[in-house]
Amino acid sequence: MNSSIADFQEKMHLLADAFIKKLPERVQNLETMWQTLQNEWSIETLQKVHRKAHGLVGTSKTFGFDALSQVADSLELMLKELLQNKTPIDEQKSNEIQSQLQALSRLSANPDKSLVQSIEHKLNNLVDSEEVCTVYVVDDDQEAAQELALQLSYYGYEVEVFGQLENFRAAIKEASNVIVLMNVEFSDDPMAGIRIMEEIQQEAAEPVLVIFISSNDELAMRLQAVRAGGVAYLTKPINSTELIEQLDSFAVPQTQEPFRVLIIDDNTTVLAYHAAILELAGMVVRTVEKTDAIMKTLLEFNPDVILIDVYLPECSGIELAKVIRQIDGLLSVPIVYLSSENDFNTQLEAMCLAGDDFLVKPIDPKRLISAVTMRVRRARLLRGLMVRDGLTGLFNHTAIKEQLGREIVRSNRLKTPLSFAMVDVDFFKKVNDTYGHAAGDRVLKSLARLLKQRLRGTDIVGRYGGEEFAVIMTDTNAPEASKVIDEIRKVFSRLLHMSDNKEFKVTFSCGIADIKHFPDVKSVSEAADKALYQAKKKGRNQVVINADD
Ligand code: GH3
Ligand code: MG
Ligand code: MG
Repeated sequence: MNSSIADFQEKMHLLADAFIKKLPERVQNLETMWQTLQNEWSIETLQKVHRKAHGLVGTSKTFGFDALSQVADSLELMLKELLQNKTPIDEQKSNEIQSQLQALSRLSANPDKSLVQSIEHKLNNLVDSEEVCTVYVVDDDQEAAQELALQLSYYGYEVEVFGQLENFRAAIKEASNVIVLMNVEFSDDPMAGIRIMEEIQQEAAEPVLVIFISSNDELAMRLQAVRAGGVAYLTKPINSTELIEQLDSFAVPQTQEPFRVLIIDDNTTVLAYHAAILELAGMVVRTVEKTDAIMKTLLEFNPDVILIDVYLPECSGIELAKVIRQIDGLLSVPIVYLSSENDFNTQLEAMCLAGDDFLVKPIDPKRLISAVTMRVRRARLLRGLMVRDGLTGLFNHTAIKEQLGREIVRSNRLKTPLSFAMVDVDFFKKVNDTYGHAAGDRVLKSLARLLKQRLRGTDIVGRYGGEEFAVIMTDTNAPEASKVIDEIRKVFSRLLHMSDNKEFKVTFSCGIADIKHFPDVKSVSEAADKALYQAKKKGRNQVVINADD
């Protein structure tokens, strides 16, 4: 079993067990408070009782304890009515509530646990399809296949090479989540690649993703390839940038930074449950239970989306959403309300005032993930149009400078190191002059992708200018940064670029500065630029650290 699913299941069981264990005590507590209220009527105590019942509804619904949540639900509704009337209750209402409390007490001794399993089942299906895929290269020309495998590995793909069709046929039967790069021509049959794929597609339960590679560019052959399930057809010699783009479009987006989700909810169990689901889907989640901690977290965590419970003890979720909207830089962050509230008017009010979406608890795990994913994708796309560079998709000059400012402030506060690296392609003018501007553009794209691929998700990469890139490396001092960039430098210098059937290689130089010595945006970028100049002067294709104090 996938280890993250096992982790998730363990978390779910712990949460459900903790809930069940504490349940009798919680119900008892509710009863005691109710007795107090009977003896001495006060709105404050009634609010507390209502809040407790509300919490019970949320948690029991989340775990699918149906009978329990139904009783809790009707109890909560009665209490809510009382709160709205603001008058002491009559005997009939009091008896009704009393009997709901007794029902709760009985059920708390014996809640049924079936839904935990059904959630696990749903999640199993969900996560299986998210695994990173392997590329199978099939070609009887071993040298070409190994070279291709090497190039793909530079971009972070796991590759297996098959020289013989029979070995490949045996392996593909067992495999899941693979993309096949199939050579069409084999030495004994000019169409062997297509033939075998036709057979495999017929036997397979699900279509196998296959990209054909051929030196034959005729329509007839392309047609055969499509019939054998080919999703792309590349002609030799292979342009590796194009191949990578094709693979990326089918593979799980490995270069995408994980979604950052902030959840604000006062119900510890429900909070942990939602966090576990989203983490399982690969998102980075931060949770806040107490609203007084929220300002700090908001600014520091930089969320892509914020999920807010509508009922919070100190203020309503709607008020909180309004506050968030007034904070610099958070105006465009999507806000999604989470609530067991099923009152249509409240939902409408919440959305009109500050939110973007409304999810009613208990939320189906798949629906939670897809709602969050949709919001984040859209928000990132919109933000991307403003801050991204069109050619490479990296942050543009203005954006990377802004990020640098933000990261320096954060590093100073947390007392963590930070390095800034400037990368500049060597003799790029010559590349353009010799191979053409389009080939130059492809070189820039491949460098951008390599940087994204090789650096950590927490590093921030931007296109600083024409053939200049900038990298903000958080939590990294200059020597560590230099080591990392130097590895990338070596890989980049080995990449084969292609123009009009001519292969060529390109290198870059890099200058690095540490905020330990250059503590603000202006001085650290000037220092990195100076070090870059040194790297160029010393012969290019190298990384230099600015050692000035
Ligand atoms: P050095 O090793 O000293 O950095 O030499 P260089 O030739 O790389 O540096 P120079 O600054 O003289 O030339 C940079 C060239 O980059 C000039 C410009 O035409 C080219 N360039 C800038 N932006 C782009 C772009 O988006 N696409 C392409 N293809 N070329 C670009
Ligand atoms: Mg240059
Ligand atoms: Mg330059």
